[in-house]
Amino acid sequence: MVKFYNTLTKKKEEFVPIEDKIVRLYTCGPTVYDLAHIGNFRAYVFEDLLHRYLEYRNYKVIRVMNITDVDDKTINGAKKEGISLREYTDRYIKIFIEDMETFRLKKPDYLPRATEHIDEMVELIKKLLEKGYAYYKDNSIYFSISKFPSYGKLSGIDLSQIKIGARVDTDEYEKEDVRDFVLWKAWKEQESVWWETEIGKGRPGWHIECSAMSMKYLGETFDIHTGGVDNIFPHHENEIAQSEAATGKKFVNYWLHCAHLLVNGEKMSKSKGNFYTLRDLLNKGYNPVAIRYLLLSTHYRDPLNFTEVSLKQAENTVKNYNEFYQGLNICASEKYNPEIKEEIEKAKNRFIEALDDDLNISASLSSVFNLIKKVNIFFSKGEFGKDNVKEVKEFLEDIDSVLCILERKEETLPDEILDLIKKREEARKRKDFKTADNIRNLLKEKGIILEDTPYGTRWKKSC
Ligand SMILES: [Zn+2]
Repeated sequence: MVKFYNTLTKKKEEFVPIEDKIVRLYTCGPTVYDLAHIGNFRAYVFEDLLHRYLEYRNYKVIRVMNITDVDDKTINGAKKEGISLREYTDRYIKIFIEDMETFRLKKPDYLPRATEHIDEMVELIKKLLEKGYAYYKDNSIYFSISKFPSYGKLSGIDLSQIKIGARVDTDEYEKEDVRDFVLWKAWKEQESVWWETEIGKGRPGWHIECSAMSMKYLGETFDIHTGGVDNIFPHHENEIAQSEAATGKKFVNYWLHCAHLLVNGEKMSKSKGNFYTLRDLLNKGYNPVAIRYLLLSTHYRDPLNFTEVSLKQAENTVKNYNEFYQGLNICASEKYNPEIKEEIEKAKNRFIEALDDDLNISASLSSVFNLIKKVNIFFSKGEFGKDNVKEVKEFLEDIDSVLCILERKEETLPDEILDLIKKREEARKRKDFKTADNIRNLLKEKGIILEDTPYGTRWKKSC
């Protein structure tokens, strides 16, 4: 049974999708005005884990991630460079998609752009006007939060202090500034980006795009909506208000939010010099899979403190993990060890049990590392059969559809080389070190490096 902590009910709940075995999932995507930073990617990696794990549990996932390609930041960026908004945002969308691939993030089924859904947003705003939830002020359109009595149910905001009819025009604001928020921004003199529509000349506010696009692709009520905790207020609170006011139906059943990422214990900011884009880290030579692992390996609701020291540790973990996997090649005995199969079963059950429990990644990973430890002990005792090799490999490959941290270069060696390695092992066992060394040198000439570990000998190809 899969359980998630639902921000809406403040409880861990059993996950029951609307339609059996199908999950409709919406994740708030990037505003494409700059390179994505490590904090943005923490949420995307959490969403990737969620997506992959639901598939691992045999759900069909239909996922939408929006792309905000019109707002103050994108408009100002394009203006500064003297290029069109489209040209400007295209560049960052391309980079974003490249980054997604680099970090092995599954591509959502839909990546809708806000600028391509203006009609849907206008329709939704028209509905809100008709139903009396929205009103015009100086040609802009605002949502009247006093008309929606359950406003605040997601964030638990205190509405006793609000001034009815006070408005906020910016898309992002603090809880203290809770007011009627803008749905449609009227065109102002000098502005270069606008649409001529039935509700007037202007452009959409940020919040309305997620309601319009999620409902277009997933229906008026869908299963899961995710984002960072920063999105709870005002963005998701406003999404609920405008969607439920328009349809009269519940908008989303499960709201999942990912905690903050801190850098060296502090909030990331350009002025503090602790600001990392993904590309900064790649340029420093870090392995993207290690970055993925680091972001993945802390539970999504716990704050994650990013440091380069922890990244180096993640690099070691990923390296050792892959060396273990790549090393599952030879030196296995002929005898099958049924205990290993039992250990794999146990590890798999714990892996699933942990992830079923609100994606408890730490517990699921420790079940895997425990298994590796046990396999290494069996290995050193020579109690690791050839068929056990296959089983362990299959297990690691199976769970990799969730973790995605294996380097899958299939390294097989010709039989004659495998024979030589075996002969050397035998020589070592009978303490004939001269023969063992000769074979080692011979293999080295052939580009095969042997490594004698406490658990036996493994090989790798020399670069
Ligand atoms: Zn959103």
